[in-house]
Amino acid sequence: MIEENLIIIGSGPAGLTAALYAARANLKPLLITGNELGGQIAITNEVENYPGFDSILGPDLTDKMKAQAEKFGTRFEYSYVSEVDFTHGSPFTVKTYDKEYQAKAVIITTGASAKRLGVPGEEEFIGRGVSYCATCDGFFFKNKDVLVIGGGDSALQEGLFLTKYANQVRIVHRRDSLRAGDFLRARANENEKIKFVWDTALEEIKGNGAVQEVTAKNLKTGQTESLKTDGVFVFIGHFPNTDIFKGQLDMDAQNFLITDKNMQTSVEGVFAAGEVQDPIYKQAVSSAGQGCQAAISAERWLAAHGVE
Ligand code: NAP
Repeated sequence: MIEENLIIIGSGPAGLTAALYAARANLKPLLITGNELGGQIAITNEVENYPGFDSILGPDLTDKMKAQAEKFGTRFEYSYVSEVDFTHGSPFTVKTYDKEYQAKAVIITTGASAKRLGVPGEEEFIGRGVSYCATCDGFFFKNKDVLVIGGGDSALQEGLFLTKYANQVRIVHRRDSLRAGDFLRARANENEKIKFVWDTALEEIKGNGAVQEVTAKNLKTGQTESLKTDGVFVFIGHFPNTDIFKGQLDMDAQNFLITDKNMQTSVEGVFAAGEVQDPIYKQAVSSAGQGCQAAISAERWLAAHGVE
C-alpha cells in the first residue's frame, strides 16, 4: 500500500494543469497517466486556439505542460487505474494493475473518448481503414479517398487535415446543415478536395482485409447506395470515461461526473475537471482552467484536513 497526498487520474490538459498547481502548492502530487499521455489534445494536429500559441501541435503542447508540471515536483506513473474505492471517505483507494494507493485527495481528469457509429464492419476494420484519429492515421491515406463522418468542428478540422494526404475527403453528415462553426465551415468550403454528402448515414462498412466501400442511406429519400472508399474517419462526438466510478460518484444522464463550483464531486475530497465532467465547453483551455480550479480546491480541502 502506497500513501499519497493527492493522486491525479488522467493526463490531458485538465490533469497536467491540476498537477502544475498542486506541485507548486508543495503537495508532491502523483499523476497516473492512463493509456496515453496527453489525452485527446495529444492526438490533435494543429491547435490554434490555445492562448499564447499562435499555432502549436497537440503533442508539443502536451510535452510542454508535462515538463512544467514535472519541474515543480509532479511524479508521473505510466499506468492505468482499474479500480477505485471512494465509499469509505478519505483516504481513498486507487488501484492500477500492479499497485495499490491510499490517497488523501483525488482529482479525476479521465476525459472522454470517441463515440463509435455502431454499424456492422466498424469494429472489424478499426486500424484497417476505420479510424478515430486523423493525426495518427492520416499518413496512411496518401493519394486515397476517405470519408469523414460527422458535421461538427472535429469532423471539419480533421477533414481539413486529411486533405494534406488524401485525394478526396467526403464529409458524410446526417443532416443538411453543419454544426461546425463559421471559421472551419468557410475553410472546408474553400478546399477543393472536400465534398459534402448530406442527409446521409452509414449503414455498413465493407472490405476485404481493409475498407473498400460503405453502404450509405439517404435519410430523406430512404435510398441506399454503395460508396467506394479507402477509409472511414469517425468524428461524431465523445463519451466520458467514467466506468470505474459508476455507483460511487453522482453522474448525469450521459454519465458525466457531477461537480459543484469548487470542482468537487459527490464525495468530499474527490474532485474532477475537464471533459469527464464537462459536456458543454470541451476545449483544451477550459479543461486546463478547470484543472487549476480542482487543484486549488483540493489544496484547500487538504489544508482543512491537516495536510499542508
Ligand atoms: P459535436 O460538436 O458534438 O459534433 C458531433 C457531430 O457528429 C454532429 O454533427 C452530429 O450530428 C454528428 N453525430 C453525432 N452522433 C452521430 C451518429 N450516431 N451518426 C452520425 N453522426 C452523428 O462533436 P465534435 O465535433 O467532436 O466537437 C466537440 C466539441 O469540441 C465542440 O464543442 C466543438 O466546438 C469543439 N471543437 C472545437 C474545435 C475548434 O474550435 N477548432 C475543433 C474540434 C472540436 P448533428 O449535428 O446532427 O447532431
